[in-house]
Amino acid sequence: KITTTNICGSDLHMYEGRTSFESGRTLGHENLGLVVEVGSAVRKVQVGEYVVLPFNIACGFCKQCEQGLTNYCLTMQPEPALAGAAYGFADMGPYQGGQAELLRVPYGDFNALRLGEDAAERQTDYVMLADIFPTGYHATEMAHVKPGDQTIVFGAGPVGLMATYSALLRGADRVWTADHQPDRLRKAEELGAIPINTAEQNPAEVVKEAT
Ligand SMILES: [Zn+2]
Ligand SMILES: [Zn+2]
Repeated sequence: KITTTNICGSDLHMYEGRTSFESGRTLGHENLGLVVEVGSAVRKVQVGEYVVLPFNIACGFCKQCEQGLTNYCLTMQPEPALAGAAYGFADMGPYQGGQAELLRVPYGDFNALRLGEDAAERQTDYVMLADIFPTGYHATEMAHVKPGDQTIVFGAGPVGLMATYSALLRGADRVWTADHQPDRLRKAEELGAIPINTAEQNPAEVVKEAT
């Protein structure tokens, strides 16, 4: 039973008609909710628990999943030329999204992160684990951000802000965040970054001068 969701920037590709997304299908890949029923093969997830659902749907046992590449799961994607699946997303399998009262989660034990006692009160924090926070974090993983690094993040939308936050969590010494929206830059500054307004400053010059 869905209790909290986010609307994602990438939903706009479907919403504004730039994809093959079928009309009548439900959007929503950033979902959190209360378990009201489980399938007969589910062992860990219990009725009554709050769970947050990473947006990729994966089997956990194919060649890609076994290497941790669950975003390229081979068994949940019916189209042989493609890989990977997600809730309510174009070209990511036939699965419904979570902008709904109820959502079916395939392979519940693998695809549902079970939340703790504070889940009900902190739903708006935990729903960030469905996409935005790990997506931002993964950018800092791919960039090998390590303690003492000087890091710049381009774009202070939700994912950029989470990348900013993640770089700081990983011990980056200085983090700049570049964007042209003053409200977003204020958020970046609140997180501890040095804002660069690209309407006024050239980020390359700012960083060259400072390093
Ligand atoms: Zn998303
Ligand atoms: Zn798989």
